[in-house]
Amino acid sequence: MFRRNAIVTGSTRGIGAAIAEALAAEGCNVMLNGFGDVEAIEKQRARLSDEYDVYVAYCGADLGVESECDTLASAAEDVFGQVDILVNNAVIRYFHNIDDFPREEWNHALAVNVTAPFILTQNVLPGMRNRRWGRIINFSSVLGMAARSGRSDYIVSKHAMLGLTRSTAAEVRDVEGITCNAICPGSVITPNTEKKIAELADELELSSDDARATFLSRRGQSRDFIDPARVAQLIVFLCQDSSLDITGAALPIDQGRSATWLEFGQ
Ligand code: NAD
Repeated sequence: MFRRNAIVTGSTRGIGAAIAEALAAEGCNVMLNGFGDVEAIEKQRARLSDEYDVYVAYCGADLGVESECDTLASAAEDVFGQVDILVNNAVIRYFHNIDDFPREEWNHALAVNVTAPFILTQNVLPGMRNRRWGRIINFSSVLGMAARSGRSDYIVSKHAMLGLTRSTAAEVRDVEGITCNAICPGSVITPNTEKKIAELADELELSSDDARATFLSRRGQSRDFIDPARVAQLIVFLCQDSSLDITGAALPIDQGRSATWLEFGQ
């Protein structure tokens, strides 16, 4: 158990929701963020708070808007008094080839996926330095280490998160208690992935099981999808005191995909 105060961006569903739950289970107060049905979010907030006896709040800041990133950080400071853990998890994805990429969507993706983590880091670092303790975890991806076509906004964002992680780690290296790391998941089963599997099933007229298998094999992920709860456990580890020697790292959680690109031809 470690009683800390955390912001988890994009925690209303998917991996972010699993991280919020895992941190709450460790005794952390959590500021939820992200979009979704108001009643469902309130239900999530109240359940986490009741089940784990922690303070869980919600701020619906739109991270595509710079001033709202500041609002999220100050909301967490107002409610908890300080922010010890920042998990930059929120994401927006567009799907176009570079030739046809609408610039408005490009700018929006970069704002949510890169500029928001930068601004949130800017907000929380001074307090972490004062208290000489902090954890910043940035979401990259296997697509932060290599590319596929039609995903340039995402790939650029996820490569940039490695740069932000290393830059942040460089600037806090002299403070033993502060670390900044990136994690690079393979394919994790989330509402977004489920939607993509359903689209693939429609497109190729496949059963749901066959579409699942096709989705994974196209990505060279030879086992099943990764459970969001297991990604969340990696973040729990990175938030513990014992992880203080790990900083500036890009940690794959991808069943060996990134280690075997050549073998799988991905
Ligand atoms: P998701 O699409 O299921 O959820 C994204 C979250 O971000 C949602 O809560 C959404 O409301 C929020 N969000 C989107 N735009 C926002 C905005 N403007 N302001 C505030 N919140 C906003 O995502 P996921 O699949 O759970 O992925 C979470 C993280 O993990 C992402 O950074 C993603 O790149 C990374 N990742 C996921 C996978 C995967 O297979 N799912 C693989 C590698 C990396």
